Amino acid sequence: MKKFLFVVSFALLLADFSLYGQKPKKLNSAEIQLKLQKLNVLGNVLYVAAHPDDENTRLITYMANEKMVNTAYFSCTRGDGGQNLIGPEIREELGVIRTQELLQARNIDNGRQFFSRAVDFGYSKHPDETFEIWDKEKVLGDLVWVIRKFRPDIIITRFNTIPGTTHGHHTASAILASEAFDLAGDPTKYPEQLIYVKPWQPKTLYWNAFFWRRSDYQKDTSDLIGYDIGKYNTLLGLSYSEVAALSRSSHRSQGFGATGTRGIQLDYLQYEKGIKASNDALEIVDLTWTRVKGGEKILSQVNTILNAYDPLIPESILHQLISLRKSVLEIEDDFWRQQKTKEIDEIIYAITGLFLEVSAEDYTACPGQELNLSIEAINRSSANIQLKKVMFNQVGVGSNFFAELKNNQVQELKSKIVLPENIPYSQPYWLVNDHGLGMFNVNDQNIIGQGENDPAVSADFILDVNGQELIFTKPVIYKRNDPVRGEVYRPFVIAPPVFVNIEGSVVVFANHAYQEIKVSVRSGKDQLKGSLALNLPKTWKVEPSSQPFELKEKGEIQTFVFKVSPPEKQETAIASAIIELNGEKYNYSFTEISYDHFPAQLLFNKAQIKFVKVDLEKGNEKIGYVMGAGDNIPENLQQIGYDVDIINNLDFSEQVLDQYDVIILGIRALNTVDRLRFDMDKLVDFVYRGGNLIIQYNTSHRLVTEEFAPYTLSLSRDRVAVEGAEVKILEENHPVLNQPNRINQNDFDDWVQERGLYFPGTWSEEYKAILSSHDPGEEPLDGGLLIAKYGKGNYIYSSYSWFRELPAGVPGAYRLFVNMLSLDGDIP
Ligand SMILES: [Zn+2]
Repeated sequence: MKKFLFVVSFALLLADFSLYGQKPKKLNSAEIQLKLQKLNVLGNVLYVAAHPDDENTRLITYMANEKMVNTAYFSCTRGDGGQNLIGPEIREELGVIRTQELLQARNIDNGRQFFSRAVDFGYSKHPDETFEIWDKEKVLGDLVWVIRKFRPDIIITRFNTIPGTTHGHHTASAILASEAFDLAGDPTKYPEQLIYVKPWQPKTLYWNAFFWRRSDYQKDTSDLIGYDIGKYNTLLGLSYSEVAALSRSSHRSQGFGATGTRGIQLDYLQYEKGIKASNDALEIVDLTWTRVKGGEKILSQVNTILNAYDPLIPESILHQLISLRKSVLEIEDDFWRQQKTKEIDEIIYAITGLFLEVSAEDYTACPGQELNLSIEAINRSSANIQLKKVMFNQVGVGSNFFAELKNNQVQELKSKIVLPENIPYSQPYWLVNDHGLGMFNVNDQNIIGQGENDPAVSADFILDVNGQELIFTKPVIYKRNDPVRGEVYRPFVIAPPVFVNIEGSVVVFANHAYQEIKVSVRSGKDQLKGSLALNLPKTWKVEPSSQPFELKEKGEIQTFVFKVSPPEKQETAIASAIIELNGEKYNYSFTEISYDHFPAQLLFNKAQIKFVKVDLEKGNEKIGYVMGAGDNIPENLQQIGYDVDIINNLDFSEQVLDQYDVIILGIRALNTVDRLRFDMDKLVDFVYRGGNLIIQYNTSHRLVTEEFAPYTLSLSRDRVAVEGAEVKILEENHPVLNQPNRINQNDFDDWVQERGLYFPGTWSEEYKAILSSHDPGEEPLDGGLLIAKYGKGNYIYSSYSWFRELPAGVPGAYRLFVNMLSLDGDIP
C-alpha cells in the first residue's frame, strides 16, 4: 500500500497543470532552444513570502530563465484579505482571483506556484498575532511538505525575521522559512509526510534584501550576492526585468501593472544560514548531470543534441531525444528521472508540432452524466506518429483509435464517456470544507500546496512516435469563440445537478415589515423537478414554507419569492436555501468569476445568507454615490430603504448635485476616479450649500488630488487591524452619536476583519474627532471619523471599514452610518 501511495504522489507532483483552463502554450524554436539548454541543468530554488504580489518576479524570472533552475514561489496565503481593484469580490472569491493571477504570473515567468493552507485574514501588525490566528504548526508543516516535494537547493525569503518592520504575515513567512529550513531534512519532524516524500535538506537560506525603499540607505553590498536581473535574453527577445513586468502585471486585482525597465539592475541576496557561497548562491550546488548517479553519459548526449539542433528543422533531433529519454529512464534518482522525462516529452511535443486536445461539449457536467468529447490531434512534422488510444483518467475508460497522424493532416475524432456517479464536484479544493479565520481545512496531504485543483477529467494520449510509445496528458477543457476576445478557453468542471442562489449576501431588516427574498433555482442538467425551501430559525417567519419547481433545460433559471418577517428584537440568523430533488437535498450556489486575464472560475458555495434585524431609526435622505474602486454600500443602503443613484457619469453642476441630501464617495474614489482631480471642489461646494459629503477611506499615496477637504486634512497609513479593538467615544454629545440612533459600546460589537485603515493623521481644529481606536499596545488613533461643519453642510471623512461592515450586516455599523446620513446642517 505504501509503495502505491508513493507512486501516486510523484505523479501528482509532476503532472503540472498550472492554468489548465488557459489556451495551451506552444513553443517556438527559440523557446525550444531554451528548453534544450535547461535539460542540462538540475537545480531548484524556492522563494518564500506571504501574499500574492510579495514575490520578486524579477528574481524568479532570472532564476528560471537565466540560471534555468526550477523556480517556485511559496505564498503562505491566497490574498483573500486584500482589497479588490477590479470588481466586487472579497474574501474567498478574491482569494480565487489572486490564485489565478499568481498562476498566470508563473505561466509568464516560467516559475511554479505553491500555497499553504493559511488564510489571509487581513492586516496584522506583528508575527505573534499572525501565528495566533494561523495554526503555526500546520503552516510550517505545509512549507516543510513543499520543500520535501520540490527539493529546493536554496531558499530565498522576501522578508526578514525582524518583527514590526512590515506586515505581520510577511515577517511570519520569513520565520517559517527559517524554521522549515532546519526541519525539512529531519525525519523525526512531520513523519506522517514521509509516506509520500523523503526528508530534504536545502543547502542555504538567503534573504532577498531590499533597500530601495530608503533612498538614504547606503548599504555596503560587498558581503551580498548580486544578480543582474536586467540581463537581456536574446532567445526571449526581452530582458528579465521586462519579462518580470509582464508577470507582475498579472496582479490586476491589486493594480500592479508594471512597466518593464531595461539596462543593468542588481538584485541582492543576503546570506542567512547553511553553506556559504561567494559570487553565486548556486555555485555550491552541482547543477549538472553529475549530481545523479549515471548522469555523465546523459550530459554528453544532451550536448550532442544541442549541437545538432536546427531551429528551421527542429524535428531533426527527434531520434536523439528518444534515445536520451531511454537513458534518462534508467537513472535511479526518482525525482530527476521524472522531472527530466517530463521536460524531454515537452520538447518532443514541441519539435514535432504536435497539438493534442480534448474539449467537452459544455463547461459543466454532472456525476453520472454522459458526455460528448471532441478530440483534435495533429502532427506537424515528418515524424512517424500514430495515435493509438485516448484514455480518460478519473473515469477509467478509453477509446482506441489507431489513427495515423500524417504531417499537417488534422484528425478530428469524437468520443463519448459516462462520468462516474462518485466523481467529486470541482469546488476549489481549499473551499470544499468550512474554514476558520486562520486556516483552510484541507485534509488530503497530497493536494496541500497545490495552486488549484487538478483537471476534473484529463486524457492520456497514447502515441507511437518513431516506434517509441509516449503518453501526453492533457486536461479536458471547454472552448468557444467569443466575438470580441476570439478563442476563449475555460476549465471543464464537474457540477451539482441543481444550484440555488439567494439574492444578495446579507439582508438587513430595518423595521418590522416583511421583505421579499428572491431565490433562483438553476438547472445543471435537463429535466429537473423538485422543491425549494428557505430554512431559518423559528423566530423568523417564512412564507410559503416550500415551493415546487420544474426546469426543462440545462442552464434554465426560475426565480421564486419568499416573504420573510423578522423577529421583534435585534437578531442575526443564517438562512439556507435547500433544494429537494429525487429524495436528495442540495444546497449549492452558482458563482462565476469571469475576467479577461485568467480562465473563468466556478464556485459552488453553500447557498446561505445572513439575515439581520437591526434596531434602526432612519430618515429618507436621497443619496448620490460616486463609485470608487468598487464596494456594495449602494445596495446595502437601498436595502434599508434609501434612494441611491450612482453619479459617476453625471454632470456635477449645482442643479444635479442639489437634488441629493448626501453625496458619498466609494472606497478609494480619490485614488481611482480621475475626474475628481477637477471636480472635487464642486463636491466641497455642495457641502457649503448645505449637503452632507461622506468620504470613505483612500490610500495615502497616488491621490488624484490633494485638495479634497475644505480645511487641512492629511492621510496617514495608520490602521486599526484588530476587528475587536476597543473603540472609545470622544464626543458623546455629538449628533452623529445621538440622532436618530443613540450609539453605545454595543454598536462596536461583531465588526469583521478590521476597524479601519489609512486614518487621517493630521487635521485642523475645524474637525471634530468623534471616535478613537487603536490596536493593542499602540497609540490611540482619533482620525477614523472626522466631521467638520462647512457652510450649511457637513464634511465627513471616515476611514472606518464601512465597506466591510455593512455588507457583513453588522448592526452597529448600520446604526452609525445612518446617523452620518441624517446629520443636519445645524451642528454647533
Ligand atoms: Zn504582502
